[in-house]
Amino acid sequence: MIIKSQSKNRIRVKSKFFTNHILQNIQDCLENQVLHVRLNQKCKSIIIYFDEEKISTDKILQTIRKFLPNNTTNNKSNSCLSKSCSTCKPKTNLKKSTLAFGGLSIYAASMLTGLTLPASLTLGVTLFAGIPLLKEAYEDIKQKRFSLQTFMSFSLIGAAFLGEIQTAFEVIYILRGGMLLEEYAANRSKDKIRELLQTDIKKAYVLIDDVEIECDLKDIKKGDTIVVRSGEKIPVDGTIIEGKAQISEALINGRSEPSFKTKGDTVYSNTLLEIGRIFIKVDASGSDTYLSKIISQVEFALSNRSQSEKAADKLASKLLTLGTFLTAGTFFLTGSLLRAFSVMIVMSCPCSTILAASTAVSAGVARGAKDGILIKGGEYLEKFSQSDVICFDKTGTLTTGKPQVTNVVLAKGINESELFTCASLAEYRNNHPIALSILEYAKKLNINTKTSQQSEILAGLGAKVTHKNDTILVGNSTLFKINKIDIKEYEKQETKFENDGKTVVYVSKNEKVLGFIAFNHEARKNANTLVKELKKRGVKEVILLTGDDKKVANAFSKEYGFDKVYANIMPEQKAHIIENLKQKHKIVSMIGDGINDTIAMSKADVGISFASGGSEAAVEISDIAIINSNIEDVIKLYDISHYALEVVNQNYIIGTSTNLLGVVLAAFGKLSPVAAGGIHVAHTVGIMANASRIALKSDFK
Ligand code: ADP
Ligand code: MG
Repeated sequence: MIIKSQSKNRIRVKSKFFTNHILQNIQDCLENQVLHVRLNQKCKSIIIYFDEEKISTDKILQTIRKFLPNNTTNNKSNSCLSKSCSTCKPKTNLKKSTLAFGGLSIYAASMLTGLTLPASLTLGVTLFAGIPLLKEAYEDIKQKRFSLQTFMSFSLIGAAFLGEIQTAFEVIYILRGGMLLEEYAANRSKDKIRELLQTDIKKAYVLIDDVEIECDLKDIKKGDTIVVRSGEKIPVDGTIIEGKAQISEALINGRSEPSFKTKGDTVYSNTLLEIGRIFIKVDASGSDTYLSKIISQVEFALSNRSQSEKAADKLASKLLTLGTFLTAGTFFLTGSLLRAFSVMIVMSCPCSTILAASTAVSAGVARGAKDGILIKGGEYLEKFSQSDVICFDKTGTLTTGKPQVTNVVLAKGINESELFTCASLAEYRNNHPIALSILEYAKKLNINTKTSQQSEILAGLGAKVTHKNDTILVGNSTLFKINKIDIKEYEKQETKFENDGKTVVYVSKNEKVLGFIAFNHEARKNANTLVKELKKRGVKEVILLTGDDKKVANAFSKEYGFDKVYANIMPEQKAHIIENLKQKHKIVSMIGDGINDTIAMSKADVGISFASGGSEAAVEISDIAIINSNIEDVIKLYDISHYALEVVNQNYIIGTSTNLLGVVLAAFGKLSPVAAGGIHVAHTVGIMANASRIALKSDFK
């Protein structure tokens, strides 16, 4: 995080870790404490106008820091989103919490077995276990805040004074148990994500004075040269400086077929070198690699609270007020301190309300990760199945990443080799599906053009390069019309191909058309059932957004049953359409491959990158990344999302109904303080068990 400028009552902070979501969270958090917050999502910066008398710069910076990834382990990052029950939130050290809870459980078990333990010992254990709670309550009282911690501390002290030592112990026991359960649920999600993305590469062979030396991975630095051979996993991100290899990059781009890589190509850590030997110059290792960054993004996202989690926090704080009234009311109406106390115990831990949402959300995120679906925050998990409209990009998303060259139409005097030499110069190092297939076709013709000249990518249109004073243009008819290059003599043939569902791409050199290439797009497996399945689940409209030609798009849309199609559109227009749809509908999702559709993805309520070819921008900008290129994963995501929401609602019912029942029984003197504590144990376990159904359910599509 860098402070870009600072003056009286104004500060501007920038960080490469500021994603739209983080910026939004910072804004939400600071809004009530400062005068104005201005976000600049493009520059990843935030400007805060504030009153120095009310809030210090340090406090603002502290708040912002809480949202940055290196604070992922510090769960206090949520504190301002949910002041109501910070004790119910996971704390950082699972081992310590488990040990402490284990100790308390042994004590509880000895009590249950009838062992007569001195009350003073129970009181001592209770107070010791309650230190964190009492500390927080003290802080809250100092700040004149009546929080859950204060309420619970009062119940604890009240119980001790009433001689209900066992009940006091129970209050603490349940509280610590609840904390542990939530912590465990959150940790399990993180483990699943790690399992999915990380491996255990510990060693690498580094080249020193032409000798290969085995070395610990953690000692590898940027700029080192390492050697990787057949069957080994690549341990770093880097550039090949010598050798050739067939590398399986499914983990990065979901493609099942391996890529052939040679000198100058980039390789990623954790991808598998199937055949070959390469020397790699290290660009990034350890936590700086592409995969590590994705892992930390997802982990960080897990600490973003979802809508229902936020709602649960709010509800918990309302329950707290209600609890105070009910306790006081019971006392005044019945005159019984014991009954009032039982009511207080029932109402004193709205953990179940908070657990209701958070356990289900973590279980959903973990379930997604298991299937290669990275959900960057519970909010998106919940929103996706509530989408009214889902938009799909076509090329690369619904069609495979490599269209097939089916026909080549040449201008007089031009041969195929000339046309593809020019085309591959413009497409060199471009990762658009059409570019990839031009390069592959050129390779088959033994054309291996390489250029140091950077080609200009004309999003939604094509590509342009200047090579040895020649200007080469490759792209669709719109691009040629914009550049006023005459393609009239080819238009009839173009229409014929387009009517057959083929995409036509022209090639020109110095404004002279060399001919065009027609491509056949193969739809991904199961694309035919996609729209039907989504509509069956209640999505109102499924829309196709594509930069491809109208005729091609219409044929595709008709075949696959889309409700609407927008064709021949530029990336900004895709974003504009999403914005318009958002005005008419509550939740609009956009699924794309990250090429020419990242702006649209970022504008949607839920932006999903699909088969993104490892595009860092796509994974970064999307709210959910579907790693494998299976169309069924979209449906699976929908079902996980829907199921998680269902479980959240069931959990609310479990929590609220047992609480209500408990209050009524307690008010009528039918529930002892000990039994009131028992209610908490029962519904907390019930909620956890219900949430675990998400992880266990195996038949998501
Ligand atoms: P979609 O929206 O279906 O994913 P794009 O916006 O990526 O499609 O591309 C739209 C059209 O622009 C393509 O059908 C093609 O005609 C042209 N185009 C885009 N990029 C390139 C490229 N690198 N080379 C040639 N043509 C391209
Ligand atoms: Mg696309």
